[in-house]
Amino acid sequence: MTNKLGIEKLDEGTRRFQETVFPARRPLFEKLAGGQSPSVLWITCGDSRVDPLLITQMEPGELFIHRNIGNIVPPYATPHRAEAAAIEYAVKVLGVQHVVVCGHADCGAVKACLNPASVEALTAVREWLELAGSLRERVEQRFGCSEGEECLERAIQQNALDQTQRLKTHPSVAEALAAGKLQVHAYYYRIATGEVLVCSNLEGEAVTARRA
Ligand SMILES: [Zn+2]
Repeated sequence: MTNKLGIEKLDEGTRRFQETVFPARRPLFEKLAGGQSPSVLWITCGDSRVDPLLITQMEPGELFIHRNIGNIVPPYATPHRAEAAAIEYAVKVLGVQHVVVCGHADCGAVKACLNPASVEALTAVREWLELAGSLRERVEQRFGCSEGEECLERAIQQNALDQTQRLKTHPSVAEALAAGKLQVHAYYYRIATGEVLVCSNLEGEAVTARRA
């Protein structure tokens, strides 16, 4: 029943888009039909509460978006090609000037990293999250915690920062960074308040965050 209602809502929304939203913005879509030229590769979690275009107020065509559980960037040397292909295409072909890895509050993937037993029965999820590396150990070491709301927030920010480092293992990113053509950023989206924080990790020390 829930599924039927869900698909009905989806179909109704699609009709509304075609009948009212699209005609009102026809010039934008006609321009986009000829190609894309996004300036940002935005890597975020698949979580349904995170809407990149909504929270950044960017337009269709402005963000090249890649999503996976936990906004993880596997190191280039691993066999995972979905992320590697998205990064290579965005950087080398589309020429994006920025890569943003955006974590979000209450991220189930990071929760699972802090409590691996919770995903013991989910083979694919567990194996995927192993790519987050020893996040729990790093958080314990750096912040002296492994549970609680504040610890989760720090872990999510640390995870986003970790991925910005992993981006540099991708040759396309390393080359563009060396040429001064690209910047990488770690963001954190706080769902309950709408805040978007830029995370920084000066000299490998404590994670700090400021308003974007
Ligand atoms: Zn998430």
